[in-house]
Amino acid sequence: MSYKSDIEIAREAKKRPIQEIGDKIGIASEHLLPYGHDKAKVSQSFINSVQKNKNGKLILVTAINPTPAGEGKTTTTVGLGDGLNAIGKKAMVCIREASLGPNFGMKGGAAGGGYAQVVPMEDMNLHFTGDFHAITSAHSLLSAMLDNHIYWGNEADIDTRRVTWRRVVDMNDRSLRQITSSLGGVSNGFAREDGFDITVASEVMAILCLSKDLKDLEERLGSMIVAYRRDRSPVYARDIKAEGAMTVLLKDAMQPNLVQTLENNPAFVHGGPFANIAHGCNSVIATQTALKLSDYVVTEAGFGADLGAEKFMNIKCRKAGLAPDCVVLVATVRAMKMNGGIAKADLGGENVDAVKKGCANLGRHIGNLKSFGVPVVVAINHFVTDTEAEVQAVKDYVKSQGSEAIVSQHWEFGSKGSAELAKRVAEIADSGASQFAPLYPDDMPLFEKIERIAKGIYRADEVIADKKIRDQLKLWEEQGYGNLPVCMAKTQYSFSTDPSLRGAPTGHSVPVREVRLSAGAGFVVVVCGEIMTMPGLPRVPAAETIRLNDAGEIEGLF
Ligand code: ADP
Ligand code: MG
Repeated sequence: MSYKSDIEIAREAKKRPIQEIGDKIGIASEHLLPYGHDKAKVSQSFINSVQKNKNGKLILVTAINPTPAGEGKTTTTVGLGDGLNAIGKKAMVCIREASLGPNFGMKGGAAGGGYAQVVPMEDMNLHFTGDFHAITSAHSLLSAMLDNHIYWGNEADIDTRRVTWRRVVDMNDRSLRQITSSLGGVSNGFAREDGFDITVASEVMAILCLSKDLKDLEERLGSMIVAYRRDRSPVYARDIKAEGAMTVLLKDAMQPNLVQTLENNPAFVHGGPFANIAHGCNSVIATQTALKLSDYVVTEAGFGADLGAEKFMNIKCRKAGLAPDCVVLVATVRAMKMNGGIAKADLGGENVDAVKKGCANLGRHIGNLKSFGVPVVVAINHFVTDTEAEVQAVKDYVKSQGSEAIVSQHWEFGSKGSAELAKRVAEIADSGASQFAPLYPDDMPLFEKIERIAKGIYRADEVIADKKIRDQLKLWEEQGYGNLPVCMAKTQYSFSTDPSLRGAPTGHSVPVREVRLSAGAGFVVVVCGEIMTMPGLPRVPAAETIRLNDAGEIEGLF
């Protein structure tokens, strides 16, 4: 049997005008700012007007440690949202926007897959409503103002060797990782070392996704540290007087984007911070607005649960005062096999033993998620190559852990394939069983917060950090940043910091290589291992075969 590609399915979608989708959740058309016929932003005044509404139930979709292809979190998020609507519930989906640059490296999209997608998927993976371009512009404005400030006399006394504000572009371009800027003579400023990150790694992105409103956004932008003086005191964006104009550039980007699923159900697609040096969830404003407009909100966190769900709980929920009512842990038979030690090339054939071996990874995630006080249900995202015996092995294992696993076939059948999962998730969310609490209190010292995560979630024996790193953390505590949560940056492929250590490793240690302060976003980034904030393109980038066909359709992207 042959299956249609994601883009073929997306092209066949019977989309409804976006006003009709807005109508389903009570957004009158005058509050929708349409971008074409199938995308719209939601007005700030409307968002303000629904603040008194009761909140719906919040459902987080996360996953076990993934295969390089991803485990189908987005696909499951969309499939579950459609499933809930199909059984008569009023549900919305909240997911992240895609970064344009990486699409030209490897084929892939961020809109889900099969019969569980949001549309228009091409737009969503490219320019969409321009939010990321706005972020690039706002970030670049600060970059320009900073160098301009130095050029005109450097009143803030910036040490040009200690500028921490890097530049951004939404393109995989490794040649820009480390550069020298302002070359070419007196009229071009003071030459200094500089570099580029990809736009989604900008602190502006993290801020946009954590801000309550435009006032909060402006305040946080002003609090970003851009450089240090010779005496090591920080220079803030507000010292450069950039936050006002940056907010102007970001005013539309702050409004959530409404689109629809293949089954014409409403979805907010908004924001997309990196999941390593940032928290990896869609915007707080989208999630909070969705909770006011529907009875169930299904949202996704990046990477596996050790990173994504941990940050969702300890950063996003803590900051925004949110509390999940149910967590859906996505597992796939192929990821189970990979965690059981099978190489990617050999994932095809039935291998029940490898599945059983890989279940240890799943078990640890279940335990970890329960430690946040939230009920967990495992969704087996069904692939057509999965065998009965393999699926049964997962179900049996999950049962032995005191939890339940439900097979979901949304990729193949849309909401018809996810009805059982939807029914159970709604029951759990409605039960009021969740007693959510973050893993650590605000006032715990920063290093202890790192230890709490390393020991409680990664099950490491110890955290290793130089005196230099510990001193830095202490200094930030003295400067008043000790109450911030920590944002862990490590490999997504293992509980440990070694990507090849699959399954449920113990006896490992977590070496901290570097710590960074994202003072505007409001977290301390803890870098454990090699973290890339400017990806490169592969030897044969997807861009070589991306083109428009005679019908004007995009080919080669997905
Ligand atoms: P994640 O959000 O975990 O990164 P996605 O939902 O984006 O993962 O899915 C990654 C890729 O896997 C997509 O191309 C999607 O079409 C594909 N995929 C997801 N679920 C299935 C499935 N059940 N069968 C086949 N392909 C799938
Ligand atoms: Mg995803």
